[in-house]
Amino acid sequence: MHNFDKLCLNKQINRALVFANFSKPTIIQHKIIPHVLNRNDVLGVAQTGTGKTAAYILPIIHNITLDTSRYQKKSCKTIIIAPTRELATQVFENAKLFSKYLSIRLTLIVGGVKPKPQLKSLEKGVDIIVGTPGRIMDHIRSGGLTLSSTKTIVLDEADQMLDLGFMPDIKKIHKSLPKQRQTIFMTATMLDQVKNIALNFLNNHKEVNLSPKATPIEKIKQKVILVKQSDKLSKLKAIIEEHKIFQSIIFTRTKKRADNLAKALCKNDINSASFHGDKRQSQRNRILNSFKVGKLNFLIATDIAARGIDIKDIMFIINYDLPMQPEIYVHRVGRSARAGKEGTAISFCDSTEKNRLKDIEKLIGYKLKSEVEKSLDLKKSNDDNSTVKKKRTIKNKPFFKKKRSNSKKKKIKKNLNKNKTFND
Ligand code: ADP
Ligand code: MG
Repeated sequence: MHNFDKLCLNKQINRALVFANFSKPTIIQHKIIPHVLNRNDVLGVAQTGTGKTAAYILPIIHNITLDTSRYQKKSCKTIIIAPTRELATQVFENAKLFSKYLSIRLTLIVGGVKPKPQLKSLEKGVDIIVGTPGRIMDHIRSGGLTLSSTKTIVLDEADQMLDLGFMPDIKKIHKSLPKQRQTIFMTATMLDQVKNIALNFLNNHKEVNLSPKATPIEKIKQKVILVKQSDKLSKLKAIIEEHKIFQSIIFTRTKKRADNLAKALCKNDINSASFHGDKRQSQRNRILNSFKVGKLNFLIATDIAARGIDIKDIMFIINYDLPMQPEIYVHRVGRSARAGKEGTAISFCDSTEKNRLKDIEKLIGYKLKSEVEKSLDLKKSNDDNSTVKKKRTIKNKPFFKKKRSNSKKKKIKKNLNKNKTFND
């Protein structure tokens, strides 16, 4: 693929790309950037970690350099909306990075912090707002923000933004924009029913869909462990020890389970902290930063960390509980194997989660390798794909069913022993 020069972006953006060590555009960047530069509405779908942020940020910054219109007070030329404060902050940092050599006014509008400084920064008008829907709506309601002269709106993680929870705010935000506007939707998963909703917001749009089936990125080695609910903790500890995992995001179903698990792991000298929406924003920032710099080894998170968060070199994602919505699985495991790197996702599935597993497999279009043996040997399977093929795994066998015939029991035991021998 050619380098960024061919995309005819502003020279100062190209300088920033060199600074950021971006030498070639990714496929989604190559395909999306021209459409955004042309001010088309765009629906972009591409797998996790493939560079969707720069795909919209770079041409938006370029278009702003060409926009000579005056700043309107309390307004912005482009608004970018993301579902969580952390993701909005990350996108904001990206915008700052790529406009490093330009004079562009950027403002971050998220909840959990004082609104006054945000209002002040909006006073004279800005180029780009990056924010979360709740706080953006607060400012619109209070008269601190008006979108009547905004030309471009981006919804990152668009399918979630069009979900029931966010929809009322998104509708209102969209209504307060001028009729002539550019709408950009980006996501890694776009189920058909959500796409129909998305189409109502788009006008003559260009679609780039590199991941029609909502599949996890191929670089992620995925594995399911059929386990009893009561064995999850000991299994987790064993996996951490066996594979010498020193950094991982472990996803739980609820905030309480995240808290409890973090406590239990800390008791076992496993350096962990829970991360969820009930924590104060200052705590959330501190925990996430510690995790990013490696001071914290295990982030025990709810789905607040499932989408968009880009932390370099996370090798392991563990689903302590399977997610309630199948597409969240794709996003969770996509926190690893980013920007072409490798990753491993291990998911626990207890007897109450079997339907969730089925839904995930239906969505991604293939069966996940599942195991019941005590000791996994991921290292071996990572190193040698041919041995993975040879390895006998038990595909979705009802391991936890109470009643089982003796022959079935023997068969499973035999398989377990085989795997054990293999692993030893
Ligand atoms: P997505 O939104 O598709 O999940 P991101 O935009 O968060 O992906 O990008 C994933 C990672 O890839 C980030 O760390 C980003 O800096 C890096 N990246 C994106 N595009 C490029 C590129 N062209 N060259 C090098 N690294 C890139
Ligand atoms: Mg993203």
